[in-house]
Amino acid sequence: LFVVFEGGEGAGKSTQVTRLAKALRGQGQQVVVTREPGATEFGARIRGMLLGGAHGPAAPTPRAEALLYAADRAHHVATVIRPALTHGSVVVSDRYVDSSLAYQGAGRSLPVEEVAWLSSWATGRLKPDLVVLLDVAPEVGLDRVADRGKAPDRLERESLAFHERVRDAFLDLAADEPSRYLVLDATLPPEEIAAAVLDRVGPMLPP
Ligand code: C5P
Repeated sequence: LFVVFEGGEGAGKSTQVTRLAKALRGQGQQVVVTREPGATEFGARIRGMLLGGAHGPAAPTPRAEALLYAADRAHHVATVIRPALTHGSVVVSDRYVDSSLAYQGAGRSLPVEEVAWLSSWATGRLKPDLVVLLDVAPEVGLDRVADRGKAPDRLERESLAFHERVRDAFLDLAADEPSRYLVLDATLPPEEIAAAVLDRVGPMLPP
């Protein structure tokens, strides 16, 4: 079973990833928690290139950025996600393909279908069984990140319009395929969100 959490900045993905993993382990499931970008040693080097403060002329172009995310994901799927699934583990990932469709596609204004094609090639078409979208208005999410005192200047460089495009892209993806998505209001109390996720995941679990 492959479950992915998606959402914009400050949506609370990592909190919910941790809660779900804990609940599933409590039920005796083997759980592998992972994230993008940067879950592997190689991926961490790519993450450094992507998020390590390269900006202005040092920043990658949108296509170069999309290829770096795809490279991270290709390696991540082949060395972490597929082996864990083969082993019968539940894999819970903080971000996956939809983040590329939303950030590199809608955000950076690359054609979303091209980013989808690239992602599909990178992953060998591995799709999550469920995507939990934690939806939050960018103003609210960015405020939350700032309150945690770790608003990287990278975030401030992107316009609110960029984050609005990202949010709308996530919502469009969910609307296109409701059976594979659970969309939750990220401003609900964390325990309510966790309970809703567990309700949805429970019936999907391997025996
Ligand atoms: O999930 P996390 O906050 O660690 O993501 C790090 C940053 O990477 C996010 O701020 C997001 O803007 C960016 N990102 C991206 N494209 C992706 C995945 C993440 O721009 N495909």
